Amino acid sequence: MAEIKRSIETLCVQGGYTPGNGEPRQIPIVQSTTFKYSTSEDMGKLFDLEASGYFYSRLQNPTCDTVARRICELEGGSAAMLTSSGQAANFFAVFNIASAGDHVVASSAIYGGTYNLFAVTMKRMGVEFTFVSPDATEEELNAAFRPETKAVFGETIANPALTVLDIELFAKVAHEHGVPLIIDNTFATPVNCRPFEWGADIVTHSTTKYMDGHGSAVGGCIVDSGKFDWMKHADKFPGLCTPDDSYHGVTYAEKFGIEGAFITKATAQLMRDFGCTQSPQSAFLLGLGLESLHVRMERHCSNALAIAKYLASHEKVEWVTYPGLEGDKYYELAKKYMPNGTCGVVSFGVKGGRAAAEKFMKELKLGAIETHVADARTCCLHPASATHRQMNDDELRAAGVSPDLIRYSTGIENKDDLIADIEAALATL
Ligand SMILES: *Cc1c(COP(=O)(O)O)cnc(C)c1O
Repeated sequence: MAEIKRSIETLCVQGGYTPGNGEPRQIPIVQSTTFKYSTSEDMGKLFDLEASGYFYSRLQNPTCDTVARRICELEGGSAAMLTSSGQAANFFAVFNIASAGDHVVASSAIYGGTYNLFAVTMKRMGVEFTFVSPDATEEELNAAFRPETKAVFGETIANPALTVLDIELFAKVAHEHGVPLIIDNTFATPVNCRPFEWGADIVTHSTTKYMDGHGSAVGGCIVDSGKFDWMKHADKFPGLCTPDDSYHGVTYAEKFGIEGAFITKATAQLMRDFGCTQSPQSAFLLGLGLESLHVRMERHCSNALAIAKYLASHEKVEWVTYPGLEGDKYYELAKKYMPNGTCGVVSFGVKGGRAAAEKFMKELKLGAIETHVADARTCCLHPASATHRQMNDDELRAAGVSPDLIRYSTGIENKDDLIADIEAALATL
């Protein structure tokens, strides 16, 4: 029998879960910390990774696994896991292959929380980062590598700088140095971009954003493409390619192969020890959000484009950045990687700088001031005084965040209402 085609829209709705006869139509919430076994021997096999099954929800839970499988199918990966947050996803994705003494090359245009995780907290743990421009040339990228470099990291569309990463170039250089490219695909979502198709090896998400989409549940996800050959670079990745003493000497890359090693190690070792697990309730809400992701992304993008065009023509607006806007610095790259649309976030500055930005935001009636983005409801933020306030001016510039930047996250409301709201707020300046 011929396989029925499953396009991205179909996977949003039906991916990861096909109920059998008489089983629940919706993904069941398995609200249980633990699972029962008949013999200690049965359970022992699970602990030894000799059999697969559930034993404790800190490591794995059926609801979380089902939703992770849906995201895995959307990204076209080989294995995936949910985490408690996007921060945990990025931490695990990097720490799974880089520890004390190692080095990572990262784009400087990344989410403020990720920058802090890398530049401050992971540095304290002994992992060094070199930040490069998202526009770095091949030569500049090559120059950032060291013998102990273990990964390259970037965001498809950076939050909030809205730079678009040349994924193919970053992947090529990473692979020439024998390391994987990790891409945070939160803003584009797999509906608009699937980084594995361009050579990325690991994808992460803050599912808190468009995937949940309703401001309901903090969460994260890591997806493995199953294409990076760890054993070919075994000297660089001892954690995957030599026996793990904390798991009776299992060698992940041998036992679970190219498609399963990365996620199995992150689950069996990092989740066991750090416990940044997503709750089954949150995973259920995430699964619900995913069902309409493709429909919502279309509206987010068309609303954002209309607003970007409106802002670009307004005399009180100093500048506008939106990769879907013709003439934007990243328009051509966006067309290549995201031909159907980019995201719903528009960054801009109003004349009068920081003070005017704060006044403008206060005057909005539909757009709410929130430490949030990528939600069905329109919201906005002044990163320099919120998510990026730990950065000095030089670091802000490198991250593509000017002091007057307003991050406007377009929801799925009526676009004319949103434009009228912006118009009224601009009139008060
Ligand atoms: C929000 C965000 C994160 C962090 O995710 P949380 O779920 O808030 O922990 C990471 N990367 C990007 C691009 C984000 O927008």
